[in-house]
Amino acid sequence: MNGLKIGSFEFDIEKAKSELEKIGAEKIMIQLPDGLRPKLDRFLEQFDQEIVVWGGSCYGACDLPEDIGENDVLIHVGHAEIPNLKVDYPIIYLPGRSIRFQEIPQELFKRLEGKIALYAPVQHLHQLDKLTEILSEEGYEVVIGEGDDRIENPGQVLGCNYSVRVEDADSHLYLGTGRFHPLGLSFSLMRDVLIYNPSTGQIDKVDEKERDDFLRKRFASIVQAEECSKIGIMISRKKGQRRMKTAEVIRQVGEKEGKEIIPIELDEINKNSIDDLNLGCAVNTACPRISLDDSGNYDTSLLTPDELMIALGRKDWEDWNMDEID
Ligand code: SF4
Repeated sequence: MNGLKIGSFEFDIEKAKSELEKIGAEKIMIQLPDGLRPKLDRFLEQFDQEIVVWGGSCYGACDLPEDIGENDVLIHVGHAEIPNLKVDYPIIYLPGRSIRFQEIPQELFKRLEGKIALYAPVQHLHQLDKLTEILSEEGYEVVIGEGDDRIENPGQVLGCNYSVRVEDADSHLYLGTGRFHPLGLSFSLMRDVLIYNPSTGQIDKVDEKERDDFLRKRFASIVQAEECSKIGIMISRKKGQRRMKTAEVIRQVGEKEGKEIIPIELDEINKNSIDDLNLGCAVNTACPRISLDDSGNYDTSLLTPDELMIALGRKDWEDWNMDEID
């Protein structure tokens, strides 16, 4: 691909242009995630059409505008489509692809065995082919799982969905940066996950000790919830994070167990919008990363829906798992 390069990412502008042509779009709305907003100019100069910038949030493909006004199409930058999320306007997805791929160190081969399952976030998905080729040449059997309806591409991991897991693989290798996705994957498999960072060539692992340390922190929130008489239920207005059925189930169970349940509808979930309500404890039905990755930034104790079930004695602690959206 010979696309728009920004930092270590490349965007397939030619593909976007050809899709715009097919649609016959004259007016575009463009939506950029936080990290790319300062690079708006670089995107604007690529297109001849009239462009309006979406000024609201863009946490993922789960976070699409309700409508695009007078515009013909939305260009959503940075993420792949969530296939089971439907909107009534056309969208062109323009994910960023990492252009760095360091030579695989010998140590990685030594740490792999048997059938190897590969995983990646959208920025590194295109590198799975190359990794498959390298591993196959080394004699490994490689397998890449298909996800459920929330997942567009084989092997693709979201912070809210690990349905591409391959339970019967002997080794699990995550290609990418960051800790949250491989940790979530490791919980969803209850197995160790090796991490290869193709940008730096570093190898790392999420193991049982890391899972235990993480669970200890979650346990503190669950204990706190047991003692709260009032519990908020956070319900997102974002289309791809809105889980009304889950919210209703936990409301009913919470009330049966004698808790006062307070539903909270939110456009934006942040420290102020929750902590100012002074509830002490709230269950987050929106993006799981808010309760599992970001909870340290809140004074309110944030739980996942399953964690409330544990706090209320409806589920066993041993059944703790990552919160996922399907
Ligand atoms: S819900 Fe969270 S993890 Fe899932 S796609 Fe949206 S921002 Fe990403």
